[in-house]
Amino acid sequence: MPTAKPKIVLYWHRTDLRLHDSPALNAALSLNPTTFIPIWTWDPHYPPTASSTPASNYGSSVKRRRAFCLNCGTRGGVTHLVFEKDEDAYARERDGVVVRLAEEAGVEVIVKSGRTLFDVDEIVRKNGGKPTLSMAQVEKAVEKIGNGVPERPIDAPRSIPDPLTRDEMDLKGVKHDGGGMGSKSNDGTDMNADHRSTTDKQYAGIMGPENDFGVPTLEEIGIDPADVQTPHRGGETVALELLGGYIADEEYIGRFEKPNTSPAAFEPQSTTLLSPHLHFRTLSVRKFWWDVQDVMERRKKAKKSNASIPTNLPGQLLFREMYFAAHAAVGEPFCRTYGNPMVRFIDWHLQSKSPEDIAHGEEGGKLYEVDSEEAEVWFLRWKEGRTGFPWIDALMRQLKQEGWIHHLGRHSVACFLTRGGCYVSWERGAEVFEEMLIDRECFPSYKVTSIFCIAECGQRLLTQVIPITDETACNIGNWMWLSCTAFFAQFYRCYSPITFGKKWDPEGNLIRRYCPELAKFDKKYIYEPWRAPIADQRKWECRVTGDGRSSTNEDGKIYPKPMFDFNDRRTICLDAMKNAYHVGLHGNDKEVKDGSWRKAFGLDEDGKRPKKKQKT
Ligand SMILES: Cc1cc2nc3c(=O)[nH]c(=O)nc-3n(C[C@H](O)[C@H](O)[C@H](O)COP(=O)(O)OP(=O)(O)OC[C@H]3O[C@@H](n4cnc5c(N)ncnc54)[C@H](O)[C@@H]3O)c2cc1C
Repeated sequence: MPTAKPKIVLYWHRTDLRLHDSPALNAALSLNPTTFIPIWTWDPHYPPTASSTPASNYGSSVKRRRAFCLNCGTRGGVTHLVFEKDEDAYARERDGVVVRLAEEAGVEVIVKSGRTLFDVDEIVRKNGGKPTLSMAQVEKAVEKIGNGVPERPIDAPRSIPDPLTRDEMDLKGVKHDGGGMGSKSNDGTDMNADHRSTTDKQYAGIMGPENDFGVPTLEEIGIDPADVQTPHRGGETVALELLGGYIADEEYIGRFEKPNTSPAAFEPQSTTLLSPHLHFRTLSVRKFWWDVQDVMERRKKAKKSNASIPTNLPGQLLFREMYFAAHAAVGEPFCRTYGNPMVRFIDWHLQSKSPEDIAHGEEGGKLYEVDSEEAEVWFLRWKEGRTGFPWIDALMRQLKQEGWIHHLGRHSVACFLTRGGCYVSWERGAEVFEEMLIDRECFPSYKVTSIFCIAECGQRLLTQVIPITDETACNIGNWMWLSCTAFFAQFYRCYSPITFGKKWDPEGNLIRRYCPELAKFDKKYIYEPWRAPIADQRKWECRVTGDGRSSTNEDGKIYPKPMFDFNDRRTICLDAMKNAYHVGLHGNDKEVKDGSWRKAFGLDEDGKRPKKKQKT
């Protein structure tokens, strides 16, 4: 009798770092592989440092698996390649190439949707091929897919077949970079240099410094664990525990209404903080949706009220679908203004350079035009949490230290940077979020540097550096929303950096926590410390002076003065937004592409703004 052909199944993990409800993993295991090879590959477009391995639940065998990234075709060749679908523009291009190469090599490719509630391409089709721009459109589209109900999640596999053992592998012929190259981008730049205190040793040899294919430790990638400040931890086990905790609290689930959750709450935060887990897919979004739905059904039967879409939890998950589907419909230009048909063009400061200008520009030069030195300073002060507005600074410092802030906190800082203060391009803000958020959805071709510890694997910290090219949708989409360039147009509704925070947190506890120099200020002045009498500032051991570049002076601790008069800036921004809406250009209009938009906005030949704006 002829023996059955061995099935060597390569399972390509991207950010689907989970075992439960993984249609792709399920499909791979259903093939009954003779050899099952789960890999995490290091895409050269990714922000470099550690190549990493999948979620912690793979347990001790995880160590052996890294080798297969390097040598997966060693014995007999792979017969099947399986991975989770990714609809983002860059991912489509990448996956298209991989699929073609695999098929040319006679490898069968299986791709399954699994990162969203519904197949995003299907949502786009049901929305007439157009980007979904409102919740109503999303609801209507998904109604046509499964009556608005996603498929039920599938269980985690009971066991995962072993890959080849170390002895079975022949790695002699495999070339390796000999130390460090894997942590650099194509042009040789080490994008995580700022975070490293020693040299990256993980590429000391193909098998890692311990010769065991182990998951690299933070130390091995040259990062001091003491520098990792985020209290948030990752991994599938953590994600399921967190979700389980919320699900056990039926009142929380049933009554959850996003606008009623406080942006000032920390320890614990007021929303689920499950976004990093959805980003890394250590939590299945369908499991999240169904566990919540089941609670709501039980409450309904017990005649208890539930909040409704879009403010409830299922509504939040549908926002995620909305942005993914919009991105899938628009493709690559979704990530920027230039060439993007759905985004309004506004005459922001610090506009992105055109792709052509970037391509022909100086290597390592700025990706944006500095049309105003003042705006550049405002942008840097915003980014570093030293605007002189404590509410904004506390949030930006929380973001920098911990990688996560509440949705309404994101509203506050995004509005402040764009249409409600600095009038700086939303693209600058999205880049900063991309750099700092642990749930960030990144945009292609920009550099990412921070680290999120996603799991603990035995004694070793399993680290994951965020893939640069994964999921642009939520970050970009929300920045468009907040800057009123797409999805939302009520630009006259502006967040005050003083009254908005005060409403949620009259004592200023968030400020005291993240701007500790202000901890002793009376609540009367905590949102406007510059108004406090000098004698009180002395009594509370912090003087309000300078621009925040220094945290002390000869008198002791200092906190910066506000970088502008907010009310003046609000008026200027509002006028400018009105004008931009009146001009009515979009990212793919000719005037935007050839630079003649300046004329339409009344700028002079040198691109200078009208006098009124220059005064600010
Ligand atoms: C300027 C700006 C940038 C943002 N960037 C990102 C980003 O890079 N990645 C990201 O996941 N979210 C982003 N958001 C959306 C939102 O702020 C976060 O998803 C949310 O705060 C995460 O916290 P949570 O898990 O506690 O959310 P919860 O309120 O508990 O909501 C549950 C889940 O629903 C999803 N969700 C909720 N609100 C939104 C929303 N507005 N858009 C998309 N999904 C949503 C998230 O997956 C979230 O985990 C951004 C929002 C703004 C205003």
